[in-house]
Amino acid sequence: MTATLIDGKAFAAGLRARIAAQTAALKDRGITPGLAVVLVGEDPASQVYVRSKGRMTVEVGMNSYEHRLPAETPEAELLALIARLNEDPAVNGILVQLPLPAHMDEAAVINAIRPEKDVDGFHVLNAGRLATGQKAMVPCTPLGCLMLLRDRLGDLSGKSAVVIGRSNIVGKPMAQLLLRDSCTVTIAHSRTQDLPALCRGADILVAAVGRPHFVKGDWIKPGATVIDVGINRIDSGLVGDVDFAGARQAAGAITPVPGGVGPMTIACLLANTLTATARANGLPDPE
Ligand code: NDP
Repeated sequence: MTATLIDGKAFAAGLRARIAAQTAALKDRGITPGLAVVLVGEDPASQVYVRSKGRMTVEVGMNSYEHRLPAETPEAELLALIARLNEDPAVNGILVQLPLPAHMDEAAVINAIRPEKDVDGFHVLNAGRLATGQKAMVPCTPLGCLMLLRDRLGDLSGKSAVVIGRSNIVGKPMAQLLLRDSCTVTIAHSRTQDLPALCRGADILVAAVGRPHFVKGDWIKPGATVIDVGINRIDSGLVGDVDFAGARQAAGAITPVPGGVGPMTIACLLANTLTATARANGLPDPE
């Protein structure tokens, strides 16, 4: 069997088109969503992300505000900028690009963002709201994974899901989302014993490890849906955390890297910005 490819690039393009239409409808009511992106320092990968976030924000008709600060900026100065953006009614979403320079306290910076404008969903209040079933801003990458899974499988209820990785930005919120959709969820990490056997029981396998080709083809339950979050740069180019060629023989469906989860992340950032704008204006959440 050869797995169906889950085309995240096409799905993300469709999502952005819907967001553009909803943005146009908001603009007709005199409301233009605005996203502020803050980049501290010159990390090359972060610069690429920030540039494409800005471009896509403008493409869907939203206002993009970019703030670039030198790497040696004192934390207090960054916090002062966040405080200004919190108060600015033209700014509906605030994203501080991670990683921050070592002299900054990442948690303190993220928690300084007003939770309603925290379109990355990393604020402790949003993490808590997600975990307790309250209305939250949901982190973009896991939200994108969930959309792809629902699109592929419909109702996820009762499925056995294994998430490899327990980071605050991918693994943990992914597990929360799958639990919210009534999956039976196992979170695996570097101390997990007999990971291959665990994975072989998974109807849904999400890999967010950061190691090229880590998940092998014979770990995959026949017919399973495999979501590869990993982005690893090796000599031959970009690869995921899953041995794609091997996994494709067993899985029912799988996301490629690139072209799978990656494009969904920015599309979900725009979706979150739209949601934040609607909520700020007392409107229902966009569908
Ligand atoms: P982190 O490094 O924060 O987390 C990696 C997780 O993998 C940790 O929980 C770690 O376990 C676990 N892990 C490491 N080694 C093993 C092992 N041998 N066996 C089992 N588990 C292991 O990474 P992120 O969550 O930030 O990112 C994961 C991947 O996703 C990266 O490749 C990143 O580039 C990619 N990514 C992609 C995005 C996208 O838009 N597509 C967005 C964000 C990330 P432990 O906690 O025990 O150390």
